[in-house]
Order: sequence, then C-alpha cells, then structure tokens
Amino acid sequence: MRRILWFRRDLRVDDNPLLCQEGDVLPIFIFDPAILEPLSKNDRRVTFIFNALVHLKSALRARALDLAIFYGKPADVFGWLLKNSSYHDVCASGDYDAYALERDCEISHLIEFTYVHDTYIFKPDEVLKKDKTSYQVFTPFYNCAKTRFNSEHTYEYLPVHQRLIDFDYIHIHRLDGNKYTILPISIESIHFQMQKLSVHQMMSPYEKLHSFASKLANYTHDRDYMALDATSSLSVDLRFGTISIRAVLRWIDKQKIKGIDTEPFFRQLIFRDFYAMLLYHFPHLATQNFRYHFEGIPNDDYFKAFCTARTGVPIVDAGVRELLETGEMHNRVRMICASFFTKNLLLPWQWGEAFFAQHLMDYDAASNVLSWQWSAGTGVDPQPYFRIFNPYTQSKKFDKSEVYRKLHLPCDYTPIPIVNHKESSQKALKYFKNTL
Ligand SMILES: Cc1cc2nc3c(=O)[nH]c(=O)nc-3n(C[C@H](O)[C@H](O)[C@H](O)COP(=O)(O)OP(=O)(O)OC[C@H]3O[C@@H](n4cnc5c(N)ncnc54)[C@H](O)[C@@H]3O)c2cc1C
Repeated sequence: MRRILWFRRDLRVDDNPLLCQEGDVLPIFIFDPAILEPLSKNDRRVTFIFNALVHLKSALRARALDLAIFYGKPADVFGWLLKNSSYHDVCASGDYDAYALERDCEISHLIEFTYVHDTYIFKPDEVLKKDKTSYQVFTPFYNCAKTRFNSEHTYEYLPVHQRLIDFDYIHIHRLDGNKYTILPISIESIHFQMQKLSVHQMMSPYEKLHSFASKLANYTHDRDYMALDATSSLSVDLRFGTISIRAVLRWIDKQKIKGIDTEPFFRQLIFRDFYAMLLYHFPHLATQNFRYHFEGIPNDDYFKAFCTARTGVPIVDAGVRELLETGEMHNRVRMICASFFTKNLLLPWQWGEAFFAQHLMDYDAASNVLSWQWSAGTGVDPQPYFRIFNPYTQSKKFDKSEVYRKLHLPCDYTPIPIVNHKESSQKALKYFKNTL
C-alpha cells in the first residue's frame, strides 16, 4: 500500500500515529501560501516551523525515512503528486479550524483521507453532555472529561516498519497552479528571513518539561506572577506538535507518582481541549459573539495606541512590548490586556484577537478566539459583561516589585493613560447595560 503521510500540527517522530501506518510511505510537509502570504517576512513562527522541519527531517532519516517539502496550494500539490504517481491514501491528524476543515474536505475529493487522532486529548465528540450536545461551560466539561479519561489517552504510538518511497527529498517542490519548480531547502526559498528566537523558543519540549518539574508543585500559586518563569512554556510545542499531548500526560503521571498535585496543570490542558471542542462545534465563534451581542466601538487612535504599546498603562504597554519583541506574553498579562482592550477602550474583540494572532508564537485559533471572547464577555462563559480587570491592582498584586514592567518598558517610559480606569470602566458598564 502506497501512502502519503502529511505532517501538519505534529512535527515530530516520537509518539506520532502517522508512523504507525503500515506500507510504502511518502512523508510530506506543505508550506501553504494561503497561510504564509499574509505574514510578515520576519515572522518568528516560520523560523520555529522551519527549525522543527529540519529536526523532523533528520529524525526521519535516522529511521530510514525522509521528508519531502512542498510550497503551494495543498490541492495543487496533491493534484501534481497524483498525476505523477499513484497513492492509496493520505494520512493526517485532525486539524479543526475552519480553514483546515475546508482544505481537508477539498483534498478528500482527490484522494482517500485517513484521519488519525493526535492533536488533542479527546476527539471532538468524546466529551459530550447526556443529550449528545456539546458543553458550553468549562467546569461541567472538565468534570465529564475526568470521568472519560483513561489509559487510551496516554497511549504511546511506537513506529512500525515503513518503506520509504523513492522521491526527490533534497529540494522544496514549488507548485503554482500547473507551474512546477524546485528550490533549495532554505527559509529564503519560501521568502522568509531567519529570526532570532527566545531561549524558550529554542529549547526542546523535553528540556522544558525537565525544567518545569521543579516548578510544578507551586504552579497554582506562581503561575500568575508574570516575572516568575513558573509555567511550562509548552504552548508553542503543543501548537506545532513538537511534543505529543500524550507524552505530556505521561509525564504528568510520573510527577503524580512522586506525590505532586498535578491537577491544576492538567486542568489547563483540558482548557485547551475545551476551546478546540467549542470551535469545532460552533465554528461561527471564530468571528461572531455567542451569548451577548456587544460589538465594541471602533476607534483607530485607541487601537494604534494599544498596538504600539502607548496606552500609558504600564502593565498593558509592557505586555504588548513583550509580545512585539518576543512573540510571547504571560497568561495573566494576556487577560489584563484583553480586558483593557475590550472594556476600558471598548474596542471590538475581533481587532485584538487579530493583533494577537499576528504576533503570538503559540497562536492557536481556538484558544485565542475563545480567550478573547471570555475577556470581552461575549463568549460561552455565563459570567457576563461586568468582569473588568483593574490593571493597576493586578500589577500591584502580580508584579509587586515591578520586575516584569521594568524588564519590558524603556527607561524613558512616561505613563500618561489614554483613558482613566474608573471613568472608562463606568462608561463600559453603561454601554453594556444599554446594549443588553
Ligand atoms: C487573550 C488571550 C489569548 C490567548 N491566546 C492563546 C493562543 O493563541 N494560543 C494558546 O496556546 N494559548 C492562548 N492563550 C492561553 C494562555 O495564555 C497560554 O496557553 C499560556 O500562556 C501558554 O503558556 P504556557 O505554555 O507556559 O502555559 P501553562 O500554564 O504551562 O499551561 C500548559 C498548557 O495548557 C494550555 N493552556 C494554559 N492556559 C490556557 C488557557 N487559558 N486557555 C487554553 N489553553 C491553556 C496551553 O496549551 C499551555 O501550554 C490565551 C489567553 C488569553 C487570555
């Protein structure tokens, strides 16, 4: 049987169900211009992916396999592959955002599509209410998820023997409609420039777990303090699949045996599943409100001030500077920034979501959209509009010694806030009450 193994959000060899598919195989990765063209040429994520591919290619070679790299519309790539040879099917793990679902549907008309489950702990229909509809509130989802969780969710996929199909593995194959060219394998060939990545972005996920082991016991308390390096930093690895979610769960099991309370960390991983499940069942959430219909008030000056870290609110400007300079932002700072954006500046959450999507290294449609809707009070969370974070009390509590702010703000930073917190909060409450 001749099969195409399509790597997408699973850029690794360890514990990868694609490597358990028997037969003659052509492992491939496709750089999709629909995803790449809107990005800036110095997008850090492309550097991360490129590095991960180089790593994947050499790990596959060590197993007598390889990786063929393409640049082009997936439909053009599959059309070209099928014109030049015959394949029984394409195997890939499920990718659930709207674009991915549409793309896979198009490919499934060209060749048999075999899905393997990989990216999340649960399949999208695995944790449902008794009436078979999806949960909309996290806690009941979490409680049900715990009852469903079993040894299958931590299963480790070990590779079977696969024979590599003869192919040109030393070039990037570029397809533009019917036009076919070959390019050297380099980031410049796909029109990007190599970027300097942060220490965390250069670390392997296993190094991250190793370093996180000593922090896990204090995770519940420390995770909110932005100057502490107290979280796992695994979001980018889970996004691109440089580690399998099951490997993280097996690691959690080992920590549990040592007597550490692993529940709070496990809960966050379930959050990731919850958001993915929601976007799968309610794809309109990507752009539309769910529960409340607050549209926000467009204001280009406020938006520009936010995106250039010039709001005059130190913790918000520090967060945006961290994002622009590294592609990272601490979770609590993300919450403070998103609350300030949607409540104090009353801007449409979709604008903030798009700004984060452009810059976050770990950008994931489901987690980003649902988190922004949570902050705006428009999403599935029954907690309505009146949750407004005070950025000053948040800073006092979680960045008491100003370590985080000093790290990210320039020495000549002067805070003249573009809005007064109290007044803008009152204005927001009035706006939301009137809109309801
Ligand atoms: C406005 C806003 C936007 C966000 N956008 C994204 C995004 O695009 N991509 C993304 O992965 N996360 C997003 N998050 C969630 C969270 O901020 C990051 O997952 C977390 O900061 C990553 O750091 P970590 O890996 O050290 O997390 P840890 O605290 O170590 O958590 C472990 C893992 O659990 C998952 N996780 C943790 N918190 C959350 C959460 N609140 N929601 C969903 N999953 C979570 C992540 O996969 C994370 O890697 C967003 C949060 C907010 C408030």
